[in-house]
Amino acid sequence: MNRAAGIRLLDTTLRDGEQAVGVVFTPREKAQIATFLAEIGVPAVEAGFPALGLEEKACIRAVVDAALTVDGGSRDGRPLEINGFARARREDVADAAECGVDGVVISISTSDAHVERKFRARREWVLRQVEEAAAEAKAHRLSFTISAEDASRTDLAFLVDYYRLARGLGACMVRYCDSLGVEDPYTCYRRIKYLRKAIASSDAEGASGDSLPIEMHMHNDFGMATANVMAGIRAGAGSVAASIGGLGERTGNSPIEEVVMALKHLYGIDLGVNTARFREVAEYVAQASQRAIPIWKAIIGTNVFAHESGIHADGILKNPASYEAFSPEEVGLQRQIIIGKHSGSKVLMHKFRAEFGIDLEPEAAGELLERVRAAAVELKRPLFGKELRLLYNELGQGGE
Ligand SMILES: [Zn+2]
Repeated sequence: MNRAAGIRLLDTTLRDGEQAVGVVFTPREKAQIATFLAEIGVPAVEAGFPALGLEEKACIRAVVDAALTVDGGSRDGRPLEINGFARARREDVADAAECGVDGVVISISTSDAHVERKFRARREWVLRQVEEAAAEAKAHRLSFTISAEDASRTDLAFLVDYYRLARGLGACMVRYCDSLGVEDPYTCYRRIKYLRKAIASSDAEGASGDSLPIEMHMHNDFGMATANVMAGIRAGAGSVAASIGGLGERTGNSPIEEVVMALKHLYGIDLGVNTARFREVAEYVAQASQRAIPIWKAIIGTNVFAHESGIHADGILKNPASYEAFSPEEVGLQRQIIIGKHSGSKVLMHKFRAEFGIDLEPEAAGELLERVRAAAVELKRPLFGKELRLLYNELGQGGE
């Protein structure tokens, strides 16, 4: 792909992330997370849902205040763009304006399943709601994104009408939500491509579709959130909403670290984020949300660069690129050579030489390996350095 520029990244850890069941951030935590995001070069955030009440408003104000003091990070001093989330109601938009945000995301469901069964209303009513809310945003001089909740299950013809209305109202962006996480990348690609064309052709002045970007907001119920984002980008989407570690409703959103790294390494699109701090930021969010980072989590998990099996570990020692798609330093992790049931003698010899200064003879390494494997099976885990030394001493060759 050759679209190096023009893709915006918006983090929604503070809004959709906090909607994950049981997750609560304090104003200080929200401000700290926003500061981290600004420092690593994420240009925009959704800071929260102001209509929730006074506490949430205090949180969003804390983010607004914190972002003002960020000294640029890797983003050349540009301030963090802070958005509030609002239902398509005048009062929600007014609540957002009160918090001093830069913009507001105006959201309403567009699928018949939601419009008819959730709202007990008709499509026409949805359009009128959006007009009202947009008028309120304009009255407060807020930039606004018009979001289609449940867009992936929405009739395409109506979605075109909806996005064309948004364009007419002066929206800076439209959002495409896979709220139930039920889209697959092929369908996603086709629909975004169609919508891009349809929005562009609606412009009487003949401006390109780039003038109204589509933002991807994808959930992970079938494990396809990041894949769908990639499909959307390939089809011409101009923005991605994502969250740290994928924190969000139910199975979560597309994880920001996956989106940034996949765009960089698979599509050659560098969003200018300082990825070396991903692990650090994720650890803070894990602590604040009380949701541990799974050790196998793509991009930031502790074990992403841990190698045990003999063939892999030997390959890594010869050339890390044998089994690593990118280097651990790029995301703030470290490479680990683990000794356990699946290890081979070459790696064991390397480990002893590098970490203990002991040159194992091949025969001794083979014998030690037998004991290592037996111990790993018994303990159901790899062995620590101390345990390896102990087994070595038991061979009767230690004694130094
Ligand atoms: Zn969502």
